[in-house]
Amino acid sequence: MAIRKIARLGHPVLRKKCREVTREEISSPEMRRLVKDMIETMHEYGGVGLAAPQVHENVKLAIIEYDDEQQAELGASQPLLVIWNARVKVLDEATSGFWEGCLSVPGMRGYVERPSKIEVSYLDERGKPQTLVASGFLATVFQHELDHLDGVLYVDKIADKTKFAFGEEYARYHVEEDEQGEAAPPE
Ligand code: ZN
Repeated sequence: MAIRKIARLGHPVLRKKCREVTREEISSPEMRRLVKDMIETMHEYGGVGLAAPQVHENVKLAIIEYDDEQQAELGASQPLLVIWNARVKVLDEATSGFWEGCLSVPGMRGYVERPSKIEVSYLDERGKPQTLVASGFLATVFQHELDHLDGVLYVDKIADKTKFAFGEEYARYHVEEDEQGEAAPPE
């Protein structure tokens, strides 16, 4: 395993659309290594999720780590989710807003509103089709990660630019506006 370098805002790799992979590819040694490296990289940098373009790979792959509460809510058997070839369907157009952070935009926070309930269809780490429903903050985490696979970053979705701030200023002046009520880890 290895910690990979994270691409930062401005690097063209973050703006490319990712390609879908075959089930055979998912079980290849190269892709298994990529998943392991992404997990190690996410843990090293203290993120709650990571998408493949953030480590310079344009394949439709993201990983998300749940906290205990989210794991219980989803009835998930493990805290870490590997998502290949994900597709999102919006189940509730009503939006929720959170101050998001991103490992590719280090030190910054921005307020983004997104649909509050979604369905995600994907292939798991064994290439098996899965579907899950996420709401609230978790729905935001999924949409943030899966946007990366289309070359979209959360900064593109900040409607009110006065709600884009350095982490310290966010903590000082804006944390109370956050529905989450606290700074979530970057994604
Ligand atoms: Zn991100």
